[in-house]
Amino acid sequence: DDSHIQQDMEKLQNCFSGFRQKYRLIKRIGEGTFSTVYKAEDLLYDSYDNSWDLDRDTEKWSPPPLRSFASQSSATLDYQSQPQPQPQRRRKPKYVAIKKIYVTSSPSRILNELELLHDLRGCESVCPLITAFRWTDQVVAVLPYFRHADFRDYFRNMTIPDIAIYLRSLFTALASVHRHRILHRDIKPTNFLYDPASRRGVLVDFGLAEREGYDCKPCVCHDDPAVRKARLRPLLSSTLKPGYPREDTRPSRRANRAGTRGFRAPEVLFKCTEQSTKIDIWSVGVILLTILSRRFPFFNSADDIEAMIEIATIFGQRRMQTAALLHGCMLETSIPTIGKSGFSLQGIILWSTGRSEKHEVPADEKLAIEFLSRCMELDPSKRISAEEALEHEFLRLGMD
Ligand code: ADP
Ligand code: MG
Repeated sequence: DDSHIQQDMEKLQNCFSGFRQKYRLIKRIGEGTFSTVYKAEDLLYDSYDNSWDLDRDTEKWSPPPLRSFASQSSATLDYQSQPQPQPQRRRKPKYVAIKKIYVTSSPSRILNELELLHDLRGCESVCPLITAFRWTDQVVAVLPYFRHADFRDYFRNMTIPDIAIYLRSLFTALASVHRHRILHRDIKPTNFLYDPASRRGVLVDFGLAEREGYDCKPCVCHDDPAVRKARLRPLLSSTLKPGYPREDTRPSRRANRAGTRGFRAPEVLFKCTEQSTKIDIWSVGVILLTILSRRFPFFNSADDIEAMIEIATIFGQRRMQTAALLHGCMLETSIPTIGKSGFSLQGIILWSTGRSEKHEVPADEKLAIEFLSRCMELDPSKRISAEEALEHEFLRLGMD
């Protein structure tokens, strides 16, 4: 398999003329559904001011001069048209992440990812785009390399203040993304690169991101409660068959469900057609629940119906049914593990970490759990926003 990676690296280097003068591929660092990512050394970084720099003290990325971006607008991403910089003597090596996007991705989706990254340039805790180039159907994006650890290696050892610092960084990124009215849609540990040693993180992977309101149709969740009730009356009077919801009784409408299983917000599962940036907040909630319960993955459903059952098991039939109705869905089941009123998040966390119900929960952990309940609010309109989260007492623990 190692030779396979070597072959792929050869292919990439041969695909673009001048690649070897510009970058030295080091190793493969990621392979996902939509891309393969390599670590590489930027051989010419000193000779052209086209790269971003992270100031270690202020945590701010300083952008390259606008001129270099202007010449790389989406219309002129063609590698061949880039000026060929001449090599110069280097100081210390500078690393980049080269993201080779699979040729099977649609051109509009690739363009979307690059455009959104371009819009988000300069946003704290969002990994900037250095450049991108294309040769026929092959597109690669070049990002500053960000050193990070594998989530599975550190999440069990995080203290409550560690968690607050981690989340403060993630919410700083999300607040900027949401301020630009962009939904990330795929918040999960592998898309938030975090270095526990320096306690810095960056948000990556805008492959599924979209602008708010894109592909949107009115959903009853945005109606006045009285209007919604009147609209849903026929649904409520219909007789329901109890049992495992084998038949999907959700309306046969089409709603965006892009994202990763286990991290999808309830409104995504309920096919809400008017999804908002709040879907990202739910996903952060799942990350926090994972850390506090020391269980990864916390949710392990194979499909959306199973995912609803998992969430219903925690929140209980009653609250889940209310959440379903919000989007015009019915959710009735007689699965014995789904109680009428579910469990408390604190109870779940104590149980997952082998502590008894009577265990005295430390004040800072209680605060974390209270914050968790604000992120995992079933009703997106009541769920905390990224901006509000940064003001929450729990995330204030993450300020130096
Ligand atoms: P995909 O769409 O295939 O999931 P990502 O952008 O999420 O692509 O990148 C996949 C993986 O590559 C990440 O989980 C991370 O491990 C690694 N990676 C991506 N960008 C960087 C970066 N700038 N620095 C270091 N590693 C990165
Ligand atoms: Mg990813």
